[in-house]
Amino acid sequence: MLAAMPTATNPPPRDEPPIPVRLDACPGTLRLHMADDGALARVRVPGGVLTAAQAAALADAAVRLGDGTLHLTSRGNVQLRGLEGDCGGALAGLLDAAGLLPSYRHERVRNIVASPLSGLDGTGDADVRPWLRALDGLLCASEAATALSGRFLFALDDGRGDVASLGADVTLIASGAAGAASGGALLHIGGADGALRVRGADAPRAALFAAEAFLEAAEGQSRAWRVRDLPDGAGPLVRATARLLEAAGIPCTYVASVSLPTGAAPAPGIVDGPDDHRALSVLAPLGSLTATQWRLLAEVARTDGDGEVRLTPWRGVVVPGVDRAAADDRLRDLAAAGLITDPASPWYGVGACIGRPGCAKSLADVRADAGTALGTGGGLPVYWSGCARRCGHPQGDWVDVVAEQDGYRVSVRGASPGEPPPATVTEPTPPTAPAVLAAAVASARTAPACTTPLTQ
Ligand code: SF4
Repeated sequence: MLAAMPTATNPPPRDEPPIPVRLDACPGTLRLHMADDGALARVRVPGGVLTAAQAAALADAAVRLGDGTLHLTSRGNVQLRGLEGDCGGALAGLLDAAGLLPSYRHERVRNIVASPLSGLDGTGDADVRPWLRALDGLLCASEAATALSGRFLFALDDGRGDVASLGADVTLIASGAAGAASGGALLHIGGADGALRVRGADAPRAALFAAEAFLEAAEGQSRAWRVRDLPDGAGPLVRATARLLEAAGIPCTYVASVSLPTGAAPAPGIVDGPDDHRALSVLAPLGSLTATQWRLLAEVARTDGDGEVRLTPWRGVVVPGVDRAAADDRLRDLAAAGLITDPASPWYGVGACIGRPGCAKSLADVRADAGTALGTGGGLPVYWSGCARRCGHPQGDWVDVVAEQDGYRVSVRGASPGEPPPATVTEPTPPTAPAVLAAAVASARTAPACTTPLTQ
């Protein structure tokens, strides 16, 4: 279990948490965001790792205090919606009892994504779970880290390149097959050309030093919430982090030019492992799970798995440690409950923001419209947005379906430098023409990748 129970240093639940000096708008568990469908809480789940008991507690919170639905985010966190505005104390109490709030003052800064299949499928250079536990502990013990914004992101990649490409502010990439603690790591900061190579055992501290170097550089800049917001970019942070490492007696080597690995997200289905255990990989349609679906996952983890679930930054859930003999049956159970268990599902690769009626900015009920315009699936991921903000859109190349005043506009967007321009841009198509919309989306999903860079 990552999270420690509250201690004397963890103040009691309260509705109004301390506000950081450089306030950003990101909601948390203690600072709720008021949406059109009620208050919204974002529960940080470092590495997406939850015990079955913690997962059950989240379902209880969603049912007792919210709309009974659990929404996965593009960082492997959980959002609860439809909350009463004054439920903060009750929510904090529930999550605290489950060990999901080890430090109230750090609850919004525990933003860590990690390779979800690390240690499960024989791929990757190391199991990053030791880094995850260590970095979360260091963050929660750091007074300086309370000043990080709720947007600042750490990524722990086991070498397969899945989370290294998510554009984190601080990325650790494992290298060498001796394990995260004894192997090596590359520390990459923002969009810097270079990186620092450190020992695996030093990697979590190095990541924290990088965050502290960022805070120093961001001092006095009220809207510098992420590395890319710094006017001088990431280069000076690499040098500043090297100085901090040197002062702490931690050896590091500068690597002048790095090319980050890229790898695929876990596909839905059964993930083979090196032993008799399997992992079940499923995706939530449009990233939302009913409490019934969520509890089934927690129950499978408890009875057939190793008692853990891992939420992925691609709005999926991995249940590790399922006995090979039970894996097929349990996957069928999850499919029968409405989860995506097969890449052939038309829901596979389809995402959407909350849209109407949950968001006042939305020009359409994007989730309903996405459901009526499903094609045969396949190709690039597609993301439906209710307005031009495109909250939670995927990284890399993707199909953008954005609501405008007179309908949806479909285009291929991406972040692959040097690729051709968008291959498909439609005239706005009204949702009253779902077949036309579905055809436009299907065409765009099979178009060549392009590259209009987008920022989140
Ligand atoms: S993309 Fe627009 S409509 Fe969708 S959740 Fe964000 S602000 Fe709301």
